[in-house]
Amino acid sequence: MTTEAHIKKEKEKARLLRKSRWWQNKINNASCHYCKRSLKKSDATMDHIVPLSRGGTSVRGNVVVCCKECNTRKKSDLPVEELLK
Ligand SMILES: [Zn+2]
Repeated sequence: MTTEAHIKKEKEKARLLRKSRWWQNKINNASCHYCKRSLKKSDATMDHIVPLSRGGTSVRGNVVVCCKECNTRKKSDLPVEELLK
């Protein structure tokens, strides 16, 4: 499978996972996985520990709750990490 097809499929799975009772419970009174600050439900985002672009999947064991800032920072860190490979 191509990376693009993999990402597309896993993004769809992530969309469904966000609607799940499991995720909804998780973002209730959640705190950011990275900076540990407490989050309102509306500020909670889903982050893939192993990014989809690196073969990560949208499964419970690979997603964490984090704030928008950490999610954005992590995403912008990726290209740098790629350069270090
Ligand atoms: Zn954070």
